[in-house]
Amino acid sequence: MRPIDPRLREELPGFQKYLVTLGVLGALTAVAILVQAELLAGLLTEPATGTAALLGGAILGRAALTWVASAIADRYTTKVKATLRKRVLARSLQTRDAGSTATLVTRGIDGVHGYFAEYLPKLVGSVVIPLAVLARLLTADLVAGLTVAVTLPLIPVFAALVGAHTRARTERQWRLLSTLGGHFLDVVTGLPTLKVFGRAQAQAETVRKMADAHASATMRTLRVAFLSALVLELVATLSVALVAVPVGLRLLDGGLDAQTALVILLLAPEAYLPLRAAGAKFHASAEGLAVLEEVRTLPQAQPEGSARPKLGEIRFEGVTVRYPERDHNALSNVDLTIRAGERLVLVGPSGSGKSTLLAVLLGFVRPTAGRVLVDGVDLRELDLTAWRAQLAWVPQRPTMFPGSLADNISLGAEGDVEAAAEAAGIDFSRATGISSGQRQRVGLARAFLRPRAGLLLLDEPTAHLDTTTEAAILRTAAKLAEGRTAVLVAHRPAMTALATRVVELRHGKLQENA
Ligand code: ADP
Ligand code: MG
Repeated sequence: MRPIDPRLREELPGFQKYLVTLGVLGALTAVAILVQAELLAGLLTEPATGTAALLGGAILGRAALTWVASAIADRYTTKVKATLRKRVLARSLQTRDAGSTATLVTRGIDGVHGYFAEYLPKLVGSVVIPLAVLARLLTADLVAGLTVAVTLPLIPVFAALVGAHTRARTERQWRLLSTLGGHFLDVVTGLPTLKVFGRAQAQAETVRKMADAHASATMRTLRVAFLSALVLELVATLSVALVAVPVGLRLLDGGLDAQTALVILLLAPEAYLPLRAAGAKFHASAEGLAVLEEVRTLPQAQPEGSARPKLGEIRFEGVTVRYPERDHNALSNVDLTIRAGERLVLVGPSGSGKSTLLAVLLGFVRPTAGRVLVDGVDLRELDLTAWRAQLAWVPQRPTMFPGSLADNISLGAEGDVEAAAEAAGIDFSRATGISSGQRQRVGLARAFLRPRAGLLLLDEPTAHLDTTTEAAILRTAAKLAEGRTAVLVAHRPAMTALATRVVELRHGKLQENA
């Protein structure tokens, strides 16, 4: 068995209270078990209606305790899941790693059910109940008590041996599942492109292989789990036999009275039961712990500052960004000053860190090293909502939401949607299906609806467009950039026509003389 991680106390509200409640319920259950055994032994040696009624009460009481415990466990687990989901979503806003977040929020978080609702109650019970039973056995008969005291620790020892093995397997299993989730999401989002290039079949093959690997890993984990349950069952059964056989012999000899012998025989299995139950839930808990660890290692959401931003000069000082689990920097020691009113065009091959630089400006990604100063104030100290109010951002692929075109442009903002749509060249009459060009225009129209934004950020607005559409979008971009500072990411040379300055990124490094 594994001890309870002390970090949980700080991480989860009400965790301590939950453990205490489980402890109290465990103690009450122990009392019910002792009373029940006593009454049953009494009833068997000396039948009486009074004893029978009391026994019925004890059994009902024990059942009620089980019911209350499981209701409390379920309620607490639901709360834990909600807390964890909120935490994951809040942090994923910074990392943009949608695939594994999706797996974690949906399938993954549910994995903690086994730990909080099943394993923990059994674990607490497996401490309280055996101790109470053992105490009663020692007072009833020293030999029987000592036999139980010696064999009882065998169960956790065997459980730990098997469990160490299970845990490694479950963790591997979990990693496999989240890779699968990430890959699946990537494939689905990229399906249109894959179809165009005739690669959809090859990807289907990859997904199938990964799913097969996952299925056989699941079977292996289950095999280990069943085997471990069997081992614990065997140890417990043999131990009870070790107690029962001598008691039986001594009863025949007359060395023990029937009442005591019955109490011992009824209580001995009860000592092993909670430990076996906890052991059986051990593998179920492993997935929950793996999930908790996963949540812990998500990038921390740093607290944001409250300073009011003023858009003047923006200065990157030695900005380095490395995404989690990447072996190279997305940005390396970037020094760059963007002067007010400048139209900076950022060029460079795909993967050179252009979008990352915009993400840093947007406050989506925090520099791993270095800092960004906005008019002398570190971006970290700014109130992000107020800062983003100053930004008009057109991402590489503007996200479309279910709803009308007008709703998609306004996104709930005030303003003249029609004028913005017209400025962006959106044709409302061609409402069926949204082409890449139309989608880019929706992104641009959204930017037009933010007249107070002083900084325009455009990410490859013409990457997937034909040259006529490109020319139209460029004219729109020029209109948008008027009277603002602009950072324009360009894939093709056409956009450099708008630039007052061009800088180039290569492998995350700024090229000096671009
Ligand atoms: P560009 O926009 O110039 O194509 P990006 O800034 O998107 O380049 O990417 C720079 C590098 O960082 C690439 O190696 C890319 O794979 C990596 N990268 C970008 N976004 C993430 C992310 N969310 N997680 C991990 N790596 C990322
Ligand atoms: Mg990009």
